[in-house]
Amino acid sequence: MKTAFLGLGAIGRPMAARIAAAGLPLTVWNRTADRAAAFSAETGGRVRHASTPADAVRDAEVVITCFPESKHVQALLDGPDGLIAGLIRGATLVDCTSGDPATSRAIAKTLESHGVGFLDAPVSGGVSGAEKGTLTVMVGGDATVLDGVRPVLDTFAKLIVLCGGIGAGDSVKAVNQAFLAIHLLAAAEGLATLVKEGVNPKLALDVINASSGRSNSSMNLIPERVLTRAFPRTFRLALLEKDIGIAAGLARDNRVPAPVTLLTADLFRVARGELGELADHVEIVKLVEQWAGVVIA
Ligand code: NDP
Repeated sequence: MKTAFLGLGAIGRPMAARIAAAGLPLTVWNRTADRAAAFSAETGGRVRHASTPADAVRDAEVVITCFPESKHVQALLDGPDGLIAGLIRGATLVDCTSGDPATSRAIAKTLESHGVGFLDAPVSGGVSGAEKGTLTVMVGGDATVLDGVRPVLDTFAKLIVLCGGIGAGDSVKAVNQAFLAIHLLAAAEGLATLVKEGVNPKLALDVINASSGRSNSSMNLIPERVLTRAFPRTFRLALLEKDIGIAAGLARDNRVPAPVTLLTADLFRVARGELGELADHVEIVKLVEQWAGVVIA
């Protein structure tokens, strides 16, 4: 199954590496061309690197994109070097961007008129999950189209769930990310309070992680990244701010009162402004620590 992968960022790169390691014929493209060239070189040239999106997809049956936002996928569709200039009829574009449903539906419509299928297929499980091939893929689109691309998705995924029509994968991903953002902030606020109360945060987490307040933030992110002060940069806070913004927009569009989501979206917007585009999402804990005048360690 001839495959193209566009967008070799923090998560895209290990996903593409899984496809290459499975032996599927692969071509890659990246905006910063050096990164695609380096990726190709690491495979001894077995993975081709293309200089334009059109060239990357010219013989691909399955095209995977993984960019920060849906608008970046949309911007690559047109023009002589764009995706549509290269895509063959019958191909499928699987967009693993954590995108927004409305733009995904617009992209799907445009591609349909060129005989190209589309699935929105955001992933969860982080960079380590991509490296291990254990990502969860939440898909929006047609079941038959999904079945046609499963061999490629299986190289990096443990769980693939068809969530509904086009845009459903994006919606589920956005809400998942809202949970992450809310849990992370709540855990940071609670632990900052406990430290000021004189409680050892590790002991507090031992209790909470055996109790009903636990979350991925309390069980994994805070013990591994905050208590250790490691704060590795694996998933940019700017991307989580984008995600919870999508979730807040969906709540508003559906007239669901969502003050917790909206407030958290605002706090992440403030944090993005304070911490910048390169900060990791867990670094928002440093802001809570700063506001509280305490270190969670
Ligand atoms: P990164 O910021 O690390 O990488 C983004 C990629 O998109 C890079 O290849 C970058 O190219 C490219 N890019 C950025 N802007 C443009 C543009 N205007 N035109 C063309 N290419 C562009 O992001 P991640 O890999 O972390 O995330 C990608 C997607 O996956 C996001 O939607 C994110 O929310 C989602 N995601 C990320 C996870 C993670 O743990 N990192 C986990 C799950 C989902 P260049 O190299 O030139 O900068």
